Amino acid sequence: MKLCRYDDDRLGVVVDGMVHDVTAAQDEIRTSYPYAMKGDAVIAALPDWRGRIEDMAAKAEGVPVADVDLLIPVARPSKTMAAPVNYHAHHAEMQADAAIPKNRPKSSGIGDQGIFLKSNSALVGPSGCVSLRFPERRSDQEVEFVIIIAKQGSDISQDDAMDYIAGYTLGLDMSLRGPEDRSFRKSIDGHAVVGPWMVTADEIPDPDNVSFKGFVNDELRQDAHTEDLIYGIRRLIEFASSFYTLYPGDIYYTGSPAGVGQVYPGDVIHAECEQIGAFDIDVIAHEA
Ligand code: MN
Repeated sequence: MKLCRYDDDRLGVVVDGMVHDVTAAQDEIRTSYPYAMKGDAVIAALPDWRGRIEDMAAKAEGVPVADVDLLIPVARPSKTMAAPVNYHAHHAEMQADAAIPKNRPKSSGIGDQGIFLKSNSALVGPSGCVSLRFPERRSDQEVEFVIIIAKQGSDISQDDAMDYIAGYTLGLDMSLRGPEDRSFRKSIDGHAVVGPWMVTADEIPDPDNVSFKGFVNDELRQDAHTEDLIYGIRRLIEFASSFYTLYPGDIYYTGSPAGVGQVYPGDVIHAECEQIGAFDIDVIAHEA
């Protein structure tokens, strides 16, 4: 099932390019969960509600995906996690690029550095935009495969990790380059794009065997496969949950494959994956 959020906080099921409105389910779920819960009620409720949501979608008239404004597929993640260098080829290109400041020059990657957090306020769906605040500095696109966590868990083993995945989506971890801490540079408004929707985990039985691509305008920059991840999907979950309790709806960027490069106002960044879908997002100049 492909579950999207769109327009004015509506919930939809995407079938063959059409969005079927199931907002009534979202309303009922949200009123049945405590406001103070950590994580997202709709994602938490999905195992119980899936059949009902599919029935509602089958009865709802569809509207074309192109006619709606897609939002991030999770309304209220407790956190947005992201793996740093998690592909060997990306590690090599970062080390080789003299224009990229090396704030951790001796690091070998994720095992040393840990994962990092992006502010939830940076999250936007494909209907948003990437606004560049520092046009004199370099900002790169990083199209990534993204995990959405299903339920609360801590110290999750690799053997159990798949049970904690609600689904998958695509992400754009926009990266202002510079000497500051990663979380600071990568939490600018609009610098955490997620979409176009969540594909439930059953549709991608082997997340370590997924191809996806990132384009800037018509230029293919990232032609990637998750089998090249240094920390695969299960290990990423084990690693994050050894530090943090994970909650339903948590978003987890799995790391950028090679092919990152500078983007400018006026560019359009395109992400696509056969098993998920595709989105376009505009790069614009920040206006105060
Ligand atoms: Mn990244």
